[in-house]
Amino acid sequence: MMDCLFCKILAGEIPAQRLYEDDRVIAFRDINPQAPFHALIIPRKHISTLNDVQAEDAELVGHMLRTAATLASEYGFAQEGYRTVFNCNPHGGQTVYHIHLHLLGGKPLGWPPY
Ligand code: 5GP
Repeated sequence: MMDCLFCKILAGEIPAQRLYEDDRVIAFRDINPQAPFHALIIPRKHISTLNDVQAEDAELVGHMLRTAATLASEYGFAQEGYRTVFNCNPHGGQTVYHIHLHLLGGKPLGWPPY
């Protein structure tokens, strides 16, 4: 997916502040943080939206969530709490069409997110 921003970050063609990586996912800091800690966890596999996740991807998406929880623990805000978000399509606020899990923490977060 040569026109995908996050595929370019995966390939190292666009710099990002990487926090974690393994054979299935990478995590890096959001360029426009909405909380003191704001990271994005993305799969190496290009999947455009949550609507495109297949049954065979279930373990991968679970691994993304486990990665978020591990990062929250490593960065010291797991007990205070945090938020994970998948935005999907325009009404969900999705702007980059390669699935990504937002991990936000480091302060009390407002709800609902109008
Ligand atoms: P979405 O709105 O699709 O759920 O989230 C996309 C996120 O990607 C936004 O929070 C935005 O700040 C972030 N983002 C967009 N371009 C870049 C970039 O080039 N580098 C990084 N690190 N984050 C980006």
